[in-house]
Amino acid sequence: MAEKGSISIHAQNIMPVIKRWLYSDKDIFLRELVSNGCDAIAKYKLLALKGEVPALEEYRVDVVADEKEGTLKIVDNGIGMTADEVKRYIAQVAFSGAEEFLAKYKGEDGQNGIIGHFGLGFYSAFMVSEKVTIDTLSCQEGAQAVRWESQDGMEYEMSPSDRQTHGTTITLKISQEDQDFLRKWTLRSTLEKYCAFMPVPIYLSQVKEPEPPKEGEEPPKPEEPEQVNDIHPLWMKKPSECTEEEYKAFYHKVFHDYDDPLFWIHLNAEYPFNLKGILYFPKIKNEFSSSEGVIKLYNNQVFVADNIKEVIPEFLMLLKGAIDCPDLPLNVSRSFLQNDGYVKKMSAYITRKVADRLVSEFTGKREDYQKYWDDIHPFVKYGCIRDEKFYDRVKDAILFKTVDGQYLTLKEYLDKSGQSAEKEKTVYYASDAKRQAQMISLYTGEGKIVVLLDTLIDNNFISFLEFVGREGEDKLSFRRVDAGTEGLTEAGDTDEAARKALEDKFRKALGQQDLAVTLSQFKQDTIPAMVTVDEQTRRFADMSRVWGDRGFSMPEKKTLALNARHPLVQYLETSQDEELDALVCQQVNDLAEMARSPLESERMVAFLQRSNQLLTRLVKPRENA
Ligand code: ADP
Repeated sequence: MAEKGSISIHAQNIMPVIKRWLYSDKDIFLRELVSNGCDAIAKYKLLALKGEVPALEEYRVDVVADEKEGTLKIVDNGIGMTADEVKRYIAQVAFSGAEEFLAKYKGEDGQNGIIGHFGLGFYSAFMVSEKVTIDTLSCQEGAQAVRWESQDGMEYEMSPSDRQTHGTTITLKISQEDQDFLRKWTLRSTLEKYCAFMPVPIYLSQVKEPEPPKEGEEPPKPEEPEQVNDIHPLWMKKPSECTEEEYKAFYHKVFHDYDDPLFWIHLNAEYPFNLKGILYFPKIKNEFSSSEGVIKLYNNQVFVADNIKEVIPEFLMLLKGAIDCPDLPLNVSRSFLQNDGYVKKMSAYITRKVADRLVSEFTGKREDYQKYWDDIHPFVKYGCIRDEKFYDRVKDAILFKTVDGQYLTLKEYLDKSGQSAEKEKTVYYASDAKRQAQMISLYTGEGKIVVLLDTLIDNNFISFLEFVGREGEDKLSFRRVDAGTEGLTEAGDTDEAARKALEDKFRKALGQQDLAVTLSQFKQDTIPAMVTVDEQTRRFADMSRVWGDRGFSMPEKKTLALNARHPLVQYLETSQDEELDALVCQQVNDLAEMARSPLESERMVAFLQRSNQLLTRLVKPRENA
């Protein structure tokens, strides 16, 4: 005889909310039902441990699709429910049996394996079903199997069921528009997404019409259910028990990345919070692809979400990994996480672990660390800018690669360049080793060390280093090799009249009335001139170019620095041949510009023409000369 009832606690108000709740993630119903099955098994195991029920040989959850019938079944051999329990747990939305069970067995082994805390999970089944049926038999002695059926999650019907063994079968009659959830491919990828590491074996199978056996042949065997999950994810193991091969295999499998990771961190904390996980440093192919990291968040082996930036600091999103935190709710809402002190501490803890690992790689395995510094430095620098605490921890493990391939810390750079005792310290750098080769060699020729800072983030990073975290420390400046002639020239008589005359000559020849020209004695006489650009205005201009900021832009402050030692400059000081002088001025200026950045197209054409003109003149001196 059927018993009728109505679901308590304002089901009419709650159902529409649930239906809309995760509308974009409809597939989450499968996570909820499969994890209920896993929970029911965890509860059964706990009772078996206490000797209240016999232990089973096999525990499993089966997901069985029947396209013809239009049904999806989720079957477990767990604790099951009595009629009373169905009424209490299922009929009262938001009343979670898991909480009650936990309260009863508080402090006993095994309770950590129980997933649900929320009490709404089951109802997500109605997002994709036109009817939901529960057939369940409690493992309690003398229990009767019961059936519960509902079409809308608001009205239900209960009756006896024919289920023979303890456990629960949930049968969903899948709605017309959600038939996709009966296809094996969809089910497999959904299970792989949410259930890949759930702690009980999960099998997927499909009911097939048996084909009529052909004459003289064996009837075809029914399809074997396939297990879709790995019940022992690597992060649950003790770090000391994991091998390098296992870490790599896990990485390849979970993140579908063929390259090996550079290194990894196995998080394993019990206090102040329960958190396990593995974070990998991927091989970063270029600066832009580096943003493709992914950090998967789990709650007791149940997938919660990808890349939750409240839990994982944004700059760590370049990493790939899995983090399992049983204390986070399964249904995380962003606003909850943002305001949660616990989450903030967790995020700080992860940051600290990453920083500590970098430092220990640097101190313990410096050679390896140097090898992958080229891969990881954009991430480290970005992290420093975003999070000063991270910077404080890693600052001694930040390396600068010199143009001749050495890797130095800032301290080593300053020691080697004899600046340790100076009040004002300078780091010379180039942003393009090929383009700036001539200027680099001017500096290295003077015994200076030039480092290479050639990524997008470097501009911001050196500004950060100059201004941040330098309280009580000496002044530090970074100067690109074209920032000035400091260190390349020596004091000599500066002939102001000669300088003025040269400035006029160049202004006239180049048609630039505001051109600034300096004249000094370079230590080397290899080049006639250098174009220098004030470091700060250049950085501004670079950044607004990169970020496309047209609103505010500052013109670069350029100077043509002439070398009084060079024969061409000496020639220009005295010559009177207006036509040839103009050619020489233009050529000297273009050559100096080319040594730092590519010429614009028109200017390039003019330069090439002029070069040919000068060569022709060399082999064919002017007739009248
Ligand atoms: P939660 O799992 O978050 O507690 P649900 O709405 O998913 O919330 O389930 C409510 C309760 O119903 C569970 O706590 C559990 O007591 C019971 N329940 C649900 N599914 C099963 C199942 N497969 N076997 C046994 N009990 C179940």
